[in-house]
Amino acid sequence: MQETEQVHVALPLKYRPMTFDDVVGQEHVTRTLRNALESGRIANAYLFVGPRGIGKTTLSRIFAKALNCASPKGVEPCGECDNCKQIAAGRSLDVTELDAASHNKVEDVRPIIEAVQFKPTTSKYKIFIIDECHMLTPSAWNALLKTLEEPPPYVKFVFATTEGDKVLATIVSRCQRFDLRRIQTHQIAARLQYICGKEGITADQDALLAIARGAEGGMRDALSSLDQLIAFKGTTITEEDALSVFGLVSRKALEDLAGAILKGDAAAILQSVEAFDSAGKNMRRLAGELLRHFRNLIVYQSLGGQTAVLEATPDQVKTLSEQAKLCDASRIFRIADQLAAMEDKLRYALSVRTLIEMTLLRASRIATVASIEELMRAVRALAAGGGAAKMAAVPVSAGSSGGDVDKDDKVVKVSNDPKDPNDVKGPKDLKVAGGASPSAAGAQSTAKPSVQSTSKPAARPQLTPEEQRKMMDDPKLNALLAALPGAKVTAIK
Ligand SMILES: [Zn+2]
Repeated sequence: MQETEQVHVALPLKYRPMTFDDVVGQEHVTRTLRNALESGRIANAYLFVGPRGIGKTTLSRIFAKALNCASPKGVEPCGECDNCKQIAAGRSLDVTELDAASHNKVEDVRPIIEAVQFKPTTSKYKIFIIDECHMLTPSAWNALLKTLEEPPPYVKFVFATTEGDKVLATIVSRCQRFDLRRIQTHQIAARLQYICGKEGITADQDALLAIARGAEGGMRDALSSLDQLIAFKGTTITEEDALSVFGLVSRKALEDLAGAILKGDAAAILQSVEAFDSAGKNMRRLAGELLRHFRNLIVYQSLGGQTAVLEATPDQVKTLSEQAKLCDASRIFRIADQLAAMEDKLRYALSVRTLIEMTLLRASRIATVASIEELMRAVRALAAGGGAAKMAAVPVSAGSSGGDVDKDDKVVKVSNDPKDPNDVKGPKDLKVAGGASPSAAGAQSTAKPSVQSTSKPAARPQLTPEEQRKMMDDPKLNALLAALPGAKVTAIK
């Protein structure tokens, strides 16, 4: 490929990785290929599976170069010998590329079968790279199969596909299969940063992160987007540019929305959605990003700040640490479930905005309203010994811990005896979301459904009607219910 100063070379092409070292985010594949090259244990056929734009073809070419390079540096291709140059330019006589998306018939693979019989002309191996190989017709595969089973030692196949499941099992079993991953956002952003440096472009970190998020794990898409932004904005790129061109929501706005959900701030949620919608943001993408944020919250709560698993920048980790304190794990799990279900429904939704609004409001209730399980736990704690006075004194906090609910716990019989010997330990773990102080409780009724249904856990079949009545009349239980924010005690018969 001839490059001159005047000709604009698209960034994905210009910065296409040339060595295994250059390949971003696929270490599990490059390491294995290097080991194979080092030990000389090269398989007959390789199969690279993965979504588009993450480097399957690039990796195939690097591998082909590494196999045929005349003066490799270790196992990396030199990039300068004739073989390397010819492979890079697609002119090597010993490396044949076939795009099965457009050439998928028996006639298309016949030249390969014939070429296999002749030794390579100038290199060590004769290599056939077949892209989008799942498109090959069954008869084309059948024609190839024999060659694939027992190829001459100088023949190597590299298959690449976006749909590994569509490749026949008989083929897969004759290949070494590698599944390429989507590249992590921060890895893409780092690569973009490097390229901006080389190209003399000033771009802030959030702008690059936005591009990376928009690319959804594909390096090629990310580079094309950067190219597009440079054409649009020149040498300075801000987050706002990136967001407006790709219809993305800013990180800050997304985190604020997540915060509003966790705090149960319905007004803020509705206002955000309205603002995103009228700014023409991509609402489906918003849903996906929000789900990813809650996923990160779950990861953060489980693992702490292990950023490698988090896929987050230090700034994001800081926000996660703050938001993780707002809500316990079980609630965040349920919110994430709601968001995941919403992502599914969005495909068929007539009004995307309405679906998002309703789901987010529901999620905000999950975050803040006491659940039946929590009430059951409170009742059990009460039954187990806490007195009414103690119960009322328990601070009612905005649910920070205690997500584990054991539904199989037996309901303990409530004792009316104030001198009950069990009456020793207070229900220390009782925490009910909602944030209101016990005295202010019953007055603000934002949480109506939660307590009405508490009659259920109390009315378990183990209890006789007499016992049930006793329990319902229990002053301790009533004190507890009165202490719950938004509780409607009237529902208890
Ligand atoms: Zn070379």
